[in-house]
Amino acid sequence: MRYISTRGQAPALSFEEVVLTGMASDGGLYVPETLPSFTREALADMAGLSYADIAFRVMRPFVGGEIDDTTFYELVVDAYSTFSHDAVVPLKQLDANHFLLEQFHGPTLAFKDVALQLLGRILDHFLKKRGERAVIMGATSGDTGSAAIEGCRHCDNLDIFILHPHERVSEVQRRQMTSVLADNVFNVAIEGNFDDAQAMVKASFADQAFLNGTRLVAVNSINWARIMAQMVYYVAAGVALGAPHREVSFCVPSANFGNVFAGYMANKMGLPVKQFIVATNANDILHRTLADNDFSKKELAATLAPSMDIVVSSNFERLLFDAYGRDGKAVAELLERFRHEPAALAEVPLNKLREKFSSYSVDDATILDVIREAHRRTGEVLDPHTATGYRAAERARADAATPVITLATAHPAKFADAVIQAGFDGVALPPHMSDLLEREERYSVLPAELDAVQRFVAEQRRG
Ligand SMILES: *Cc1c(COP(=O)(O)O)cnc(C)c1O
Repeated sequence: MRYISTRGQAPALSFEEVVLTGMASDGGLYVPETLPSFTREALADMAGLSYADIAFRVMRPFVGGEIDDTTFYELVVDAYSTFSHDAVVPLKQLDANHFLLEQFHGPTLAFKDVALQLLGRILDHFLKKRGERAVIMGATSGDTGSAAIEGCRHCDNLDIFILHPHERVSEVQRRQMTSVLADNVFNVAIEGNFDDAQAMVKASFADQAFLNGTRLVAVNSINWARIMAQMVYYVAAGVALGAPHREVSFCVPSANFGNVFAGYMANKMGLPVKQFIVATNANDILHRTLADNDFSKKELAATLAPSMDIVVSSNFERLLFDAYGRDGKAVAELLERFRHEPAALAEVPLNKLREKFSSYSVDDATILDVIREAHRRTGEVLDPHTATGYRAAERARADAATPVITLATAHPAKFADAVIQAGFDGVALPPHMSDLLEREERYSVLPAELDAVQRFVAEQRRG
């Protein structure tokens, strides 16, 4: 399996290279050159298998033999053994034809665990084989940092540095990162805001000289392996509800578009999906683009669903590449225009997208209403991200006969503030995390200065 860039100018890479690389040298994102496809029989055969077995079957073609089957299967089984539910990502029925796919049973209680538990293990495998070490750097305002740390804490060949804005992340989110006391985990509280932290990470990727040749690896959702791992639960949920004999629809609380893009890939490989509903909060670039062809940036709004607070959706580029008939030059031109001014999609690609994608945007007041309403109707306490999906599924579904599966991307205890604002007393953390607020923490506070951060990384990393 080869991977090519969405902007058409970077060299094609193998799976191993693409996992270790991140962004393409032409500024694009890597996608598979060709997609494997599942026959109806192959899908039907997955019914009743464990999550790890389905994961192995779905992802194996993308690995393309670069990890031997026995080893890859072990990595997959090991990654998903960290989830506290045997089904890993269980389905729960809400009403006659609306289901929740609970993606929050991993170590940090949000969907990013599904991909990052596996990515850390794959990276460590390749680095060990090459006899190399690597450094991961990332900036986080919440979910990504803790999921990346949990995914890498046992990796011998990786050191991970996660920057968060000092005193500007919630206590639960901070403690999920800072209470991991492993030797290869370094939490850095930056005396600045998230953008300062993000800018320093970007600058470090652009000029890696401070690491003297050690590789810097990206674990954000531009890394192909994250998309690959996320395809699995679409297939598992579809098969559980009757695929390939029955179509389903998915509703996905979205920000960088990595999660829903993985569903689209699963659909292209043969999973019958009627409709993808893209749910956004007030940061609605995806909704404005799909509904009004308004592909433009808007100022960031801080919402009750903070993990969906974005200005630009990086993975949307992967979908545009397909919509534009895999014309890298056209994608590069569109995104260059978009960088400077409001842009619009050409008619043919836009119509192609609208055949499969619908969208809906939910503001903060509505998020609170939905948390109350969903509880009244179903008994479930939804987290604020899932609440956007719940409302979008009800309002934007094409028909009532096709089952719709809303992705529950986080556990409500992780975003207890919003749940309390909706009128609840709070939500208990699951048993394995109930002592989180008493655990010892470790982190370093650094000024928002690139030199200071890079010196810290260079000095602290092991070996
Ligand atoms: C990251 C995240 C999202 C958005 O996912 P994308 O892949 O960026 O679209 C939604 N909900 C939660 C809880 C998240 O952590």
